[in-house]
Amino acid sequence: MTIKFGPSGNSDIFYQQGHKSSLEMPAWLRDMGLDAYEYSFGRGIRIKEDTARSLGINAKSQQITISVHAPYYINLATPDEEKRRNSIKYIVDSVIAADWMGATRVVIHPGVPGKMSRKEALEKAKYVLAKALEEIDSLGLGHISLCPETMGKKNQLGTVDEVMDLCSIDNRLIPTIDFGHIHARDCGAIRNKDDYARILDTIESSLKDERALHFHVHFSRIEYTEGGESKHWNLKDTQFGPEFEPLAELLVERKLQPTIICESRGMMAEDALELKKIYLSKLNQGGRDV
Ligand SMILES: [Zn+2]
Repeated sequence: MTIKFGPSGNSDIFYQQGHKSSLEMPAWLRDMGLDAYEYSFGRGIRIKEDTARSLGINAKSQQITISVHAPYYINLATPDEEKRRNSIKYIVDSVIAADWMGATRVVIHPGVPGKMSRKEALEKAKYVLAKALEEIDSLGLGHISLCPETMGKKNQLGTVDEVMDLCSIDNRLIPTIDFGHIHARDCGAIRNKDDYARILDTIESSLKDERALHFHVHFSRIEYTEGGESKHWNLKDTQFGPEFEPLAELLVERKLQPTIICESRGMMAEDALELKKIYLSKLNQGGRDV
């Protein structure tokens, strides 16, 4: 198994070339030399079962690993009972649709603490994740992992430590490490290889199992304000960090094998390929000059 690279959603150029349906994405990505594809239910789970199954068949035949992003409006930490039930339902519905597609990872934003303390919000979020896992098990879908994400805004739940804490309750909870978000949340936190190394150390010391090798990654350059994340950018927009090279060196040195999803704006597949090339060049150097 090697590191898999792919985009979140469809690049502008995919449509400019005359393609219309995401069903064409697996072959398109394979032709480019990519390995993964994240399908977003960010604004709602709207895919029909037969379309999802067709996508899954195409992905399998092209050896593209699909992951799914659950709706953005999920809030695991909500104090409202009805919203909590809805959040569980959206997670379960995402998992069901993920299964149609043959996806085994569902990325989830943890939510916002609001008026609660972060500690209290975290406990609520753990409760909701545990309940969601129970329902997923009862549907026979326990092979699908939920992947809580590190978030880019200070008012959101989802520091690296908080995501590690969420993942501590069940080994099917795989962290989504969004390095752009981590960078933006602390206003430019990732400046060099040591900054990446500290994040990877935290994952390793917190998880102590397969998940520390095969975690999920989101990567893009990102603009931020005092409150954290404000906008995703493309790899060519070099005025915004973080840089991928130091991370690629560490992935090689530590023999890590995450799935890396690129979240650039409109050029996510092209940039995912660029990330893959950077990684492969470090791999071929065998860490010699790193
Ligand atoms: Zn996300």
